[in-house]
Amino acid sequence: MEPVQALQKYFGYSAFRYQQEAIIQHVLNKKDVLTLMPTGGGKSLCYQLPAVLLDGLTIVISPLIALMKDQVDSLNVNGIPAAFYNSSQTPDEQIQLTTKLRNNQIKLLYLAPERLFGNESKLITFLKSLPVSLIAIDEAHCISHWGHDFRPEYLALAGLKNEFPAIPVIALTATADKLTKKDILEKLNLKDPEIFISSFNRANITYRVVPKKNSFNQLLAFLDERKDDSGIIYCLSRKSTEALAADLKAEGFLAEAYHAGLDNAVKARTQEAFLRDDVKIIVATIAFGMGINKSNVRYVVHVDMPKNIEGYYQETGRAGRDGLPSDAMLLYSPGDAIKLKQFAMIDDNPEQSRIMLNKLNDMVKYCQLQACRRQFLLKYFEEDFPPDCNSCDICLTEFKKFDGTLIAQKALSAVTRLKERFGTNYVIDFLRGSRSEKIREEHKQLKTYGIGADIAKNDWSRYIRELITMGYLEVTDDAFPVLKLTSTSEAILKGQQKVEFIESQTTEEHKPTEALPYEADLLAEIKNIRRDIALHENVPAYIILSDATLLEIATYLPQTLDELRLISGFGDIKLARYGREFLLPVKSYCEKNKLSSKIKLKASKRERKARTENSTNGVRSSSTAFDSFTLYKSGKTIAEIANERNLAASTIEGHLSFYIYTGAIDVLEMVNEEKKLLIKDAIESYGAEKLAPLKEILGEGYSYGEIRAVIAWMRKMGTI
Ligand code: ADP
Ligand code: ZN
Repeated sequence: MEPVQALQKYFGYSAFRYQQEAIIQHVLNKKDVLTLMPTGGGKSLCYQLPAVLLDGLTIVISPLIALMKDQVDSLNVNGIPAAFYNSSQTPDEQIQLTTKLRNNQIKLLYLAPERLFGNESKLITFLKSLPVSLIAIDEAHCISHWGHDFRPEYLALAGLKNEFPAIPVIALTATADKLTKKDILEKLNLKDPEIFISSFNRANITYRVVPKKNSFNQLLAFLDERKDDSGIIYCLSRKSTEALAADLKAEGFLAEAYHAGLDNAVKARTQEAFLRDDVKIIVATIAFGMGINKSNVRYVVHVDMPKNIEGYYQETGRAGRDGLPSDAMLLYSPGDAIKLKQFAMIDDNPEQSRIMLNKLNDMVKYCQLQACRRQFLLKYFEEDFPPDCNSCDICLTEFKKFDGTLIAQKALSAVTRLKERFGTNYVIDFLRGSRSEKIREEHKQLKTYGIGADIAKNDWSRYIRELITMGYLEVTDDAFPVLKLTSTSEAILKGQQKVEFIESQTTEEHKPTEALPYEADLLAEIKNIRRDIALHENVPAYIILSDATLLEIATYLPQTLDELRLISGFGDIKLARYGREFLLPVKSYCEKNKLSSKIKLKASKRERKARTENSTNGVRSSSTAFDSFTLYKSGKTIAEIANERNLAASTIEGHLSFYIYTGAIDVLEMVNEEKKLLIKDAIESYGAEKLAPLKEILGEGYSYGEIRAVIAWMRKMGTI
């Protein structure tokens, strides 16, 4: 069976995401592989699909029992025999498992690393007697001291290659900086490994930083709009998780606290309840999260500032694994930064303290940023990204700007006059003409002294911060940081370059484009059905079907099993098991509301594969189109998307035209009004069936993409 056929049959997906296909091909060719992909990127599939296709057993090393259980449940629901081996099993269960393994009845076996090499070295002897075809090491960064989740038990995995020299290994992680990556490769002894690094952009997450004023009220306002959604709220201290959870409960929210100090049984119960949607909100310290695979976490809130960008990105990444729009909100107060600074200072270890402080400073910079947050985050992970992602608070807010050249000149000349030897506060006091004794007498004689007295202290701080962000000033890295000019300062001082500042009063956020229309009542109904099935099968709801799958059903209203097969997430087994149960309510809902199937908007998956490039002028959607759409919404150009996805630009244009049809993209984003009308004329005269003649008539100045966009728009308007 071809990988793509197995993808449809076992997982119900029509196309691979990003590098999945190449990774899987390497694994099938028995090559060692290291995969770096963001949370929610689809790592599991990179070893689960080969496991299905290869003869024999795939061993999966995973750090947490909760994670293993989740994965095993998901695989079993898809009809793939998988199991885990752990200490909570009874001897009887273990004997049964051993028998199944001997009879080659298990495709994937999940293990914690300490199982493999622990006291039970018998296990490894047993495993060596089985036809093992692949070893997958999940959360591979746990092997590195440099990673933020170092687990000593992972070090034992260094012995794997000795025990199974001929078996390919795939290591996977969502977080690996250079040092961690190097560590993983060395410690695991990977043989001539191929390294796959995906973009770490999480296009479906919107990032916001809000000044913390009255955090509880701010939180309530945020949660009120998200009553039915699941979310995680991170606090710094154990005590505050408990207090906040209690306050939220008193307001009627299904919230529970989670931190490392709780009883194991309580932790397990809370986690389970969250997975099953009995608890909607977890108020947690960072102890919560790793191994939480729940795909429909809709938001992550930080009520306290995290200690570093790595942790923040990891935590926010727990939102929206299913690819649906999700939110990350951080409540920022400068006081938090001061508190954290104290924690970052480690006695007797100046080197470590310096690293921690630098990381903390980067976090503060992020909070105070006046430019695209997504770009900043990705740059932190050494990835280029254009500014203006259209899905962070900065990009979604229209800022009023004003010419601040004069202000900038005042600040820069003050720094010059003070011979670049003083810190921000001194410079501000000097600019404002402070009479304080702190200001040296000789400085009070300078002409620049007091030239900025008309500007409040707070505003000066902000302007100087912005000048630093814009690169016209820099702060030294010393114990007493001072302001210095940069190579670009001179152009400002000489009036050769203008500076714009943002007014502190900003206008309202403009709303992001609306998503596809769907039937909300029907969605609620099928969610209930999913919950009942999940209860009956004793697994979390999202394991039965993801939110993204239910949303597609409520959008495209499939009426038959064949139509349901076209919904992303329905593999053969799920279709057979649950298909009818989900069709019934859709059909009766449609009858009652006089609606019919819209599935033809979503081209047949099989048909699409057979289609050639030049027949893509139909209107259709698919998860791959959705991927292009989210990239587009994150601010990428068509050329960039085509490049990133390794597809032709015309394919991406085809993808985006579907969203013009649904109204999610305005046709005028693709083509100007004048061209639109001329293309429309041409289509009305010559029809929309064939693109080439239209292109011919319109001439050089018109691209296929523009023509396609207008066709999609005319279909939307019902004029063709
Ligand atoms: P990760 O382990 O990288 O955090 P997962 O493996 O849990 O991510 O995948 C995230 C989600 O994406 C899961 O719900 C998974 O089923 C889904 N997914 C993975 N690959 C695809 C694909 N090719 N098409 C559609 N959905 C996919
Ligand atoms: Zn942005």
